[in-house]
This record gives sequence, structure tokens and C-alpha cells, in this order.
Amino acid sequence: MTDPIAFAGNPLDREPVRRRDRDWLEARLADEDSRFLPLWRLSPLLKKGEQRALAWARREFFEDLDPAPEPVLLGTDDDVAHFAVDVSAVADPEGAFEIAEVASFEDLRAAAAQLPISETGIAAQARAYVDWHARHRFCAACGGHTRSVQAGANRVCFDCQADHFPRTDPVAIAVVVRGQQCLLGRSPGWPGRMFSALAGFVEAGESIEDAVRREVFEEAGVRVGRVRYLLSQPWPFPSSLMIGCVAHAKSEEIRIDPSEIEEARWFSRDALRAALDGKRSDLSVPPPFAIAHHLIRTWVHDGAGGFF
Ligand SMILES: [Zn+2]
Repeated sequence: MTDPIAFAGNPLDREPVRRRDRDWLEARLADEDSRFLPLWRLSPLLKKGEQRALAWARREFFEDLDPAPEPVLLGTDDDVAHFAVDVSAVADPEGAFEIAEVASFEDLRAAAAQLPISETGIAAQARAYVDWHARHRFCAACGGHTRSVQAGANRVCFDCQADHFPRTDPVAIAVVVRGQQCLLGRSPGWPGRMFSALAGFVEAGESIEDAVRREVFEEAGVRVGRVRYLLSQPWPFPSSLMIGCVAHAKSEEIRIDPSEIEEARWFSRDALRAALDGKRSDLSVPPPFAIAHHLIRTWVHDGAGGFF
């Protein structure tokens, strides 16, 4: 599998050592080469034009705001520091910053397919961090105020000194295969006749493999044996990590849980190949920026033989 996947493959060096160095960080914040990605209510600023791209700003863009937002270090590229900065406090940012003709704040989920794929990873990191900081101003242990440390890599409580780290919520997602058939499901409200891989959050104290077995049985009534990890995808809405697997079914009969999905079916490789190519009016699969697309494509082209 070589196709790049949206939100993965972030090219920035996260600088795990240098970000602890206060002097280095202050110099980067003052450096006029440093770049700042503004986000407004979690929507990143994108350049207008035929090819959308992240719209990086200089420090002057936001330094007069009151209160001044605290930039989060995303990393460096060729030794140039890149930060995310939350400008949500501004009521009309495109008007206030006089940028409406050249750039706009866009919902990342809708805009991801328009961005160069390497920039989707940076945008995912920025969105996840800005959202986490905004929602973790107070300590979960004692209720005290927290402050950002290590350039935004984590937060520490002023009162009890507890460390708080950005959370990632794991979601197991699997194509379930049995012989020459692949099990997919659809949820109410999905567009057209789209079917996708079954997915669910990994629960506390649960392995990825056990989460796949539990979810597939809960949603479709199918028993799963072996599970193999294939690839993952950050999914910053707000902080998921999609863990893509292929699972081997031990049973075939489908009994759906209508509170979770509205339909599940076994599909042949030919049917899914045609759906991937957009040649079926009665069946579609998720677009390439979704990990499910890559899981289905892998099974269609490589088969399950490579995994079991
Ligand atoms: Zn505390």
C-alpha cells in the first residue's frame, strides 16, 4: 500500500528536545521567518485560488489581540518554526485582519480534499492541538487552572502540578473478510448507497483486536477470529486515531443492530472494484481521504491472502 492518506505523513519535525528549551522557543517566536497558522473556531486559514493551501501568517497578524493568543509549536521544516495560533476570540476575523480577498477560514473536514496531502497532516495536528488546549484550561484532578508548557506539547496544573497530555481517542475500523467476500455496513443518513468498513471506539482496557471483534459482532452479528493491523490515520474531529485492520470472519450470517447501522452486506471483489472506480450507480464507498477507502482498496487489489 503506497497511496498517501489524508492527515497522515505530517512533514514537520515536532522538535521533541528543542521545544523544552525556553530560549530556543523565545527566539523562534521572535524570528521573522517563523510561520503561524491561524485557526478560527477550529477552522484553519486557507489561501483562496484554484489550489487551496494553508495560509501562513507572521506574528504581527495576531500580536495586538487582547488577550494575546498563545501559539502552539507544530514543528520545524528546514529549521523554520511553524506554529498554530487560535484567533477564535475575534468576532469577524476575515474582516478584522483584512484578508477576505486572499484567504478564508474553512472547515477542515470539508476542505481536506482540496489541500495538498502533505498539508492535511499539518492541519490535522494544528486542529487537534488547538481544540485540546481550548478544552483543557482546568485541571481534571483538582479543578485548578492549567498552563501550556513545552511550546504547547502539554499542560501543567498551577495548583497540584499534575501533567496533562493531549488525548487521542483510538477508533478500530476493519474490513471483515470471509473467502472471496468482504463485509461492509452503512449508517442511517449516509449519502446515496455508500457502504463502509465497520468501526467503533476502543474501550478502556481493551485491545485493538478485541475492539474489532466486539464491534463487528455488536453491529453485524458476525464472529471474527484473527485481526491484523494495516495502517492508521489521524482524524482530528476532534482527536481520533483511526486504526485500520483486516479481520477474518468465522461466521457468515448477518444480524444487524439497528441502533448502530441500518444495513450490512457481503460484497464480492468485483462489486467493490466497480464501486471504487465509480462505475456502480447502486453502490459507493468512501472517498480517498477516508481510511476505509484504502482498506477496501487494499482488499480488492491485494486480497486477504497477504494477511492470513
Ligand atoms: Zn490540579
